Amino acid sequence: MNNSFQSVLRQLPSVDALLQEPEIQETLLHYPRKLVVQSIRFILDARRKSLLDNPEQTDAVELAAPKLVSDVMSHLAAASDFTLRPVVNGSGIVIHTNLGRSLLPEEAVERLCILCRSYNNLEYDLEKGQRGSRYVHAEAILCELTGAEAALVVNNNAGAVFLTLNTLAQGKEVIVSRGQLVEIGGSFRIPDVMRSSGAILKEVGTTNRTHPRDYAAAIGAETALLMKVHASNYRIVGFTSEVSLGEMVKLGREHSIPVVEDLGSGSLVDFSRYGLGGEPTVQGAVKGGADLVTFSGDKLLGGPQAGIILGRKDLVARCKKNPLTRALRVDKMTLAALEVTLRLYRDEREALTRIPTLRMITTPLEEIEKHAEILASLIREVDAGQRLEIHTQPGLSQVGGGSLPAYDLMSRVVSVRSATMGSHKIEAALRMNRPPIIGRIESDQYILDVRTLQKGDDAVIQDAFRSLLSGSP
Ligand SMILES: *Cc1c(COP(=O)(O)O)cnc(C)c1O
Repeated sequence: MNNSFQSVLRQLPSVDALLQEPEIQETLLHYPRKLVVQSIRFILDARRKSLLDNPEQTDAVELAAPKLVSDVMSHLAAASDFTLRPVVNGSGIVIHTNLGRSLLPEEAVERLCILCRSYNNLEYDLEKGQRGSRYVHAEAILCELTGAEAALVVNNNAGAVFLTLNTLAQGKEVIVSRGQLVEIGGSFRIPDVMRSSGAILKEVGTTNRTHPRDYAAAIGAETALLMKVHASNYRIVGFTSEVSLGEMVKLGREHSIPVVEDLGSGSLVDFSRYGLGGEPTVQGAVKGGADLVTFSGDKLLGGPQAGIILGRKDLVARCKKNPLTRALRVDKMTLAALEVTLRLYRDEREALTRIPTLRMITTPLEEIEKHAEILASLIREVDAGQRLEIHTQPGLSQVGGGSLPAYDLMSRVVSVRSATMGSHKIEAALRMNRPPIIGRIESDQYILDVRTLQKGDDAVIQDAFRSLLSGSP
């Protein structure tokens, strides 16, 4: 290390010197000293490292107090923010697993606040004055809505499938069609879940065609269940043949083997009435004779994260008794939000307007077109220099969450292009906005789909464009 380099390193102010800067002193009124010191150390370390790695290219401005202080402030703001934060969903994917899936109905949010501020009868039987079960709370309404004899709510649908298999088929065979051995995002793969539950997978048929005789031939002394899995996120088209639930139930009855259907999304509304066919309903599966049905709480149901098992009373009772249920159990917040959401289904029109997931899926195109025009004009308003090309154009939204995979929803999106800023730069700037705005890039345009925007989001987007345009040449 030569002398001039040493002297450059020495130019970096000390932690104590930076702490004395007026702006940092002011910050100490709002942030714990420990956090502020951590941020100062972080920034000084980064500068030292860049000096060592790249001594020639380090600018004197980078080493001076004003720039150091402003970097400390940014680091501090980022480091002390919540890690889980609200974001604006401009992706047009309604049930976006990475963005937290379903938004809760307003009624559910209010109910959560009420129940979380007070003690409650989660596991207390008020009539008998003794210990009760948390599992009674959503059970009655689930049975009322679906016609099932009994129901059990667990942590999520992966847990529901796991618990069902572990309870009814540990060490025994479960027959599944090869066309239904699906992977559902992340790490949920039917064959893997099957293995970890202790059940033995018996595959039948081929990827595109499975026949009743395939199941019949596979049934033996070791068969515990026949299982049907909703091939959520993909579709097999062309020369295909699937065994219907009815045919599986007939076989199951003949051999006294229960039939379990993992519906995945688990809709309580028949979407074919709204021009979106193909998604089986929970009521349909119960009526069709499935002995147990499993589905998610936060996909098409539009409630909190949960997994629901419902169907035959004796089988649900066995699941309840499994010690694993304790490990998969839901908390009072989930039960509170789920109960409210389910009650909205007593009146389907109510459900469609009050449950955000259902409302977004069924928003009429004219309404979406109007919204897109409004958002486009709001962005134009802050683009006084007319540096952006802002249009609305037809686009496609998705239901997401592996629901209604065959359907893209006709939408109208706002597209933004700039001669001076690449669409990746726009995308990144909006993603780093507070709150973050999530859009997408398509043919080098930045795209926002208004279908998934919530009240107040338009103003957030307008502000973000305002600062984006003021911050760059
Ligand atoms: C989504 C899905 C699951 C997993 O449900 P989670 O609630 O995400 O745990 C299981 N099976 C099917 C068919 C699914 O679509």
